[in-house]
Amino acid sequence: MTVYLVGAGPGDPGLLTARALALIAAADVIVYDRLIPTSALDGARADAELVYAGKEGGGPSVSQTEIERLLLEHGGTGREVVRLKGGDPFVFGRGGEEAESLREAGIPFEVVPGVTAGVAAPAYAGIPVTHRDAASAVAFLTGHEDPAKPESALDWDALASFPGTLVIYMGVRQLGAIAQRLIAGGRPASEPAALVQRGTFADQRVVTATLESIASVAQREGVRAPAIAIIGAVATLHERLAWFDRRPLAGLTVAVTRARAQASGLAARLRELGADVVEAPAIRISPLEGPAPEVQRYDLICLTSPNGVRLLFDRLAGAGRDARALAGARVAAIGPGTAAALREHGVIADVMPERFVAEGLVEALADVPVTRALVARAAEARDVLPDALRGRGAEVDVVALYETVAEPLTEQQLRAVAGADFVTFTSSSTVRFFLDAAREHLSPATRLVSIGPVTSDALREHGLAPDVEAVRHDIEGVVEALVADAAIA
Ligand code: SAH
Repeated sequence: MTVYLVGAGPGDPGLLTARALALIAAADVIVYDRLIPTSALDGARADAELVYAGKEGGGPSVSQTEIERLLLEHGGTGREVVRLKGGDPFVFGRGGEEAESLREAGIPFEVVPGVTAGVAAPAYAGIPVTHRDAASAVAFLTGHEDPAKPESALDWDALASFPGTLVIYMGVRQLGAIAQRLIAGGRPASEPAALVQRGTFADQRVVTATLESIASVAQREGVRAPAIAIIGAVATLHERLAWFDRRPLAGLTVAVTRARAQASGLAARLRELGADVVEAPAIRISPLEGPAPEVQRYDLICLTSPNGVRLLFDRLAGAGRDARALAGARVAAIGPGTAAALREHGVIADVMPERFVAEGLVEALADVPVTRALVARAAEARDVLPDALRGRGAEVDVVALYETVAEPLTEQQLRAVAGADFVTFTSSSTVRFFLDAAREHLSPATRLVSIGPVTSDALREHGLAPDVEAVRHDIEGVVEALVADAAIA
């Protein structure tokens, strides 16, 4: 029944507030802008109506009047509406106008502040907008208008003598004219200045210069909107306090080929380390129908992936059973991801190998007595483990809980893959399906990262050599290997 005017932050999805995420997850309708984090809508309900209200290339493609009409239309029908805007809705976001029109129409609204670009972009560039020694005040202004126009809404002489930092939104195009006007008003030509383009996004860029030269430097460097300009002594702190582009994977694009449902952990770790992550899932996990296995008949139950764990417990739950059904058996997990999935269901794995591949599990089970074993896994998995157990005289049942199927990649994903510095492969099926979908888009310069020997073999079968192979065959191992390789290159 309420329209929420919600700030989505400047771009880094980690800067969405907890309240924004909760409202996005609950909304019936989301009216969103162009400059919001790419993943901001991931948590929306599958049946939510998503309405794009962005403005392209400076000129409005959806007019403000139309946006307000949309809000009244949806808000008026009693649905939960989120109006999602870049940064903060009340800082150069026209949130005030939208709130006014909702008030006039008698539609209840709430405002959820967001992290504004004028603070966040400088922060991600190592520039504090205030500083005990350098700036005790800060002014946020729009650089949208030509300051030479007599009807300018801003008092440029007052801003020129403002005793503190000037933070300019929407100022790239007019930067030269603004700088001249400020200097004419008495601001020193030598005052430090900085521009932060696409602040907080993985491809953030920072240029610094003096007030006098910032516009020509920006032009030479090809700085484009969205960018924040910072004028004041604090701008020099960028040199000492820059941190964003010092992270181990800063400036590198890494493609993740895991199924979407599994990709988030790896993607998040890579992003934390500064990578621009392209999610290019060429596979999808498709659960297979079937009865719950009679787990109480086995003295050993082997699980070879977190998906297998999840789907085994789904099947058990379907039969009204839970973790206690496994009480009589030893439980073996192929690696830490699988063991973690088991722990989520209250089961601590009895056996986990040192090498997280089927051969490793066979070794780890060498001294474990087995009469009847259940191997719960993907349909297309290798037979190394069941064969080895049978070879020891055990009776082995294999239950296929899911298959991996091809997931088409979009043009945009393929283009992003073509520009990737690294592509990560976390199983032989990711290799197979990814290469089927994207082989001709792979650049020879892209480094191929494999989780371990089986995945590396799959690459070799396709005539490609892994550039990096993880020493530890799990996600953290992939991340470590990639970081080590990036440090050398
Ligand atoms: N409400 C938004 C501002 C919208 S006005 C907020 O609070 O941040 C659009 C201007 O914001 C852009 O022209 C640019 O100056 C700035 N901006 C938005 N996102 C930015 C980003 N990620 N990096 C640098 N500037 C950004």
